[in-house]
Amino acid sequence: MNCTHCNKPLNESQTHGNLKSCPLCSSQNGREHVFYSNPSAFGRSTKRITKNHPNGDQSYCYACRGAKDSPYSPILCSQKQE
Ligand SMILES: [Zn+2]
Ligand SMILES: [Zn+2]
Repeated sequence: MNCTHCNKPLNESQTHGNLKSCPLCSSQNGREHVFYSNPSAFGRSTKRITKNHPNGDQSYCYACRGAKDSPYSPILCSQKQE
């Protein structure tokens, strides 16, 4: 399934400045990428540092990884500043 705004796969993490899309939130939205500020809404883990992810960014947001009340408000792909 592709984003109705940018036409890229919803289950692929997109980055836009300090925003990053959560593949799971985006798939659940079903229409657009759902972005959060990165790294605050994702967190980083040194265990995740790889060649493709040099910062060790987590791919899923805190809410998808089990945090009960994530304080981060989602920004839809069409709402972010270009
Ligand atoms: Zn998008
Ligand atoms: Zn998420």
